[in-house]
Amino acid sequence: MATWVTGRIEENIHWTDELFSLRVRAPVEPYTAGQFTQLGLEIDGEIIGRPYSYVSAPQDALLEFCLVTVPEGPLTNRLVAMHPGDSLLVRPKPAGFFVLKEVPEGSDLWLLATGTAIGPFISILRTAEPWQRFENIVLAHAVRHAAELTYTDSIAALSRSHPGQLHYQPFVTRENHPGALRQRIPAALRDRSIERQLGLQLDAGHSQVMLCGNPGMVKDSCTVLGERGLQRNRRRAPGQVTTENYW
Ligand code: NAP
Repeated sequence: MATWVTGRIEENIHWTDELFSLRVRAPVEPYTAGQFTQLGLEIDGEIIGRPYSYVSAPQDALLEFCLVTVPEGPLTNRLVAMHPGDSLLVRPKPAGFFVLKEVPEGSDLWLLATGTAIGPFISILRTAEPWQRFENIVLAHAVRHAAELTYTDSIAALSRSHPGQLHYQPFVTRENHPGALRQRIPAALRDRSIERQLGLQLDAGHSQVMLCGNPGMVKDSCTVLGERGLQRNRRRAPGQVTTENYW
């Protein structure tokens, strides 16, 4: 199997100047929602590749990825400027274990993300499994500014398809935004404002939590959840908190 295959950009969705999603056609191997691959470009005779989670679901014809430009980043600053018809490299083999089959049973699933790390959760929610396994699904998305609240149309459509099952909670930390909490996720777990806002209780007995994004958010949330009796989920010692650091 080739290490890289060539993909064709079908769409470049610009959410803000720095935040964008690429829809790509490429002959990759089957993947599971929550997994990632690498996108790359040949720059000055060398392939520069970085990992990106699939936002698309395994059954989708196009592959989708959500990216943010990294200051001075050679790859993202080229990718943000790409247009339909342009080519990029994609690793055909998926990677990663941040998938629902690694998450033990529970009645409620809490998906907590910052920034572009909402991507793997959108992929998971585009499959049938979470809706069949969990009574309530919380999707919390923390961003600095309201314009960075990506995928709200997709989330609204998922809510309509699964009435009463999805509980979406935006967090906007650097400006006021209607319906959003203005605090960080670990703080909202600590003071339970997210539970009050949603009318749902988070506890070790019936909740499973997936954390994805800023490593500081993941670490601090694990600490707060640990104090509440929710343990890290490991293959040899199943728990309630499954994590993925995004960088
Ligand atoms: P971010 O700094 O991760 O902010 C997103 C949200 O997370 C904000 O609500 C922020 O709150 C919160 N947050 C930040 N640090 C936290 C912590 N320690 N604990 C809990 N919550 C925390 O920013 P972003 O806008 O998604 O991305 C910013 C930069 O991160 C990008 O420009 C890029 O350079 C880098 N990044 C790199 C990669 C990569 O793969 N290398 C991927 C994603 C992002 P506050 O407003 O309170 O800070």
